[in-house]
Amino acid sequence: MKTIASFTVDHDTLEKGMYVSRIDGDVVTYDIRMKKPNGGDYLPNGAMHTFEHLFATFARNHALGEQVVYVGPMGCRTGFYLLLRDVVSRQEALDLARESFAFIAAFQGEIPGTQPRECGNYREHDLPGARAAAEDMLRVLADWTPERMDYGR
Ligand SMILES: [Zn+2]
Repeated sequence: MKTIASFTVDHDTLEKGMYVSRIDGDVVTYDIRMKKPNGGDYLPNGAMHTFEHLFATFARNHALGEQVVYVGPMGCRTGFYLLLRDVVSRQEALDLARESFAFIAAFQGEIPGTQPRECGNYREHDLPGARAAAEDMLRVLADWTPERMDYGR
């Protein structure tokens, strides 16, 4: 079988940030890298799960929500995938990520979608952990630019 494109990125040199990993037709996949790959520090499941609920809820309710194809965690627990229609510019995608993380960092109250009928593991949530991860990514993306989104392939 062919090696899929995301495995051809050199994970040894990858740093935290936001990158365009692939373009399929009119869908752009952004890798939001929140932990250094193989760095020994990964998103805890509960924090990642809560982050997912809040990120997806915010992004899909955003003015660009109709252009959001998918929001979800990486299985390696080092970040998130954000899939957007290509009518969204890289700058707009970056702004959407920053706004989403500001929302998560400040979130209080009941996490959306955490009734047993709404979620596959409704007890495994960690809001303080999600908030901390969002705060960290706000720092990482504070001076990020669309030019830095290329993986160099
Ligand atoms: Zn869930």
